[in-house]
Amino acid sequence: MTLHNKKIMNFVNGEMVEPLSGQYFETIEPATGQPYALVPDSNKDDLDRAVIAAQNAFPAWRDTPAEERAAMMNKLADLIDERQDNFIQAESKDNGKPVSLAGALDIPRGTANLRTFADAAIQFKGDVFEKDTSYTYTLRQPFGVVATISPWNLPFLLFTWKFSPALAAGNCVIAKPSEVTPMTAYMLSELINEAGFPPGVLNILHGKGANIGSAITNHPDIPTISFTGGTATGIEIYTNAAKQLKKVSLELGGKNPTIIFDDAEWDKALEGAKTAAFANQGQVCLCGSRLFIQDTIYDRFKADFIKKVETIKIGDPKDTNTQHGATVSKDHMEKVLSYIALAKEEGGTVLTGGNRRILEGRCKDGYFIEPTVIDGLPHTCRTNREEIFGPVVTLMPFSTEDEVIEMANSTDYGLAASVWTQDQNRADRVATRLENGMVWQNCWNLRDLEAPFGGFKKSGIGREGKWRAMQFFTQEKTIGRPR
Ligand code: NDP
Repeated sequence: MTLHNKKIMNFVNGEMVEPLSGQYFETIEPATGQPYALVPDSNKDDLDRAVIAAQNAFPAWRDTPAEERAAMMNKLADLIDERQDNFIQAESKDNGKPVSLAGALDIPRGTANLRTFADAAIQFKGDVFEKDTSYTYTLRQPFGVVATISPWNLPFLLFTWKFSPALAAGNCVIAKPSEVTPMTAYMLSELINEAGFPPGVLNILHGKGANIGSAITNHPDIPTISFTGGTATGIEIYTNAAKQLKKVSLELGGKNPTIIFDDAEWDKALEGAKTAAFANQGQVCLCGSRLFIQDTIYDRFKADFIKKVETIKIGDPKDTNTQHGATVSKDHMEKVLSYIALAKEEGGTVLTGGNRRILEGRCKDGYFIEPTVIDGLPHTCRTNREEIFGPVVTLMPFSTEDEVIEMANSTDYGLAASVWTQDQNRADRVATRLENGMVWQNCWNLRDLEAPFGGFKKSGIGREGKWRAMQFFTQEKTIGRPR
């Protein structure tokens, strides 16, 4: 018999509730391969109940002064901060990421999201068009009940990033975290009442994408959906949502280039390229999984890069010295390993890594994959065009600016890029010509939460970020009169 020390519950209308079907499934700790909690397998009936609660809560929430909405969001952030270590440990256990990363990034960014959008609630405003003969102004009004669907790679960070602007703008929310990493969303739900939110304002439904996720997409009383996840799922959601003319925001996959010119600052470029490739076991949509190196420095940079990658400490995510934890699930580990096999079939050479890593003790059955570096592949092969979303980076030489831009742009994705050179004019020229929603110069993943975030091409539709997300979760009404 499997022992579960936790039973996760849905949060609907201010109460912890069981799924109406009574059905649960197991969630697994990736570092050990062992089940450790039960997750509600919610369905359309649970959604109907949550939608009614949200509809009932909406008029009062919409009319609540922005300062009061902001105060509740800030209070929720404070309550999480008071329990920060519990959240860090839980995120690491649920996802397989090192506690050091959960502590440096996921949990503090989650509360920063709440605070950023609490500010936005107060500061967000419409426009005024004052002319000699007319006076026109706009209101930004909430939709009513909106939904957010988020993935497993940065579970708490992306969960809060999606629902916070929706609440700040005066909507009531149905939020669905990933089935693979439900724990920190559940822990947050335990604090919603204490933060002062009225029942029905924020509802959290756990379950599977094909079941509750699809029910959300098709529900006639949810006109607006913000989704972060894979491109194939995004296309399915977009297709379903179109039938009801829903407004959707899609933040999808990436196959991001890191470009190193021969005048780049050596040590910074090496460190930056390593972090871009392997942060969070390579499971960040922004990860630089294709590393283009100018041919004049290719061999030397490659040698130093491999040396650096081999210093990454793989281990139990609970160990504070660990830099590289487990991939999120057995299925995902197998998918990543199958891409390494594909890279070899396509003629690639594995320069370091390439295998599942079996650890000793507690983590002997965990889903660990070595940081893997591959070269010898053309930029046109599948390995270099499809999103692997794991600790795998391919190296490719280039000679000119034109050539690297052509190669970097040669995928269906267009999320992010990073360019390393000390020539600012070149950095600007390249940034202008890259088909990516975000380009970082001499850095990776520089995030200003006010700045727009989102992708070109099949990396998504729409933009997030402080103001863009507030715009997304509101509809604009124009009111005019003669003067
Ligand atoms: P998925 O697309 O598999 O899942 C994302 C979310 O959608 C999950 O909550 C999932 O539920 C749900 N879902 C799955 N199927 C459906 C459906 N048919 N209808 C509605 N909802 C559904 O992505 P992953 O969780 O595997 O996340 C990894 C992907 O996310 C990568 O491609 C990555 O690039 C992308 N991503 C993009 C980011 C961006 O900002 N552009 C940021 C982070 C990740 P369940 O978990 O139950 O399957």
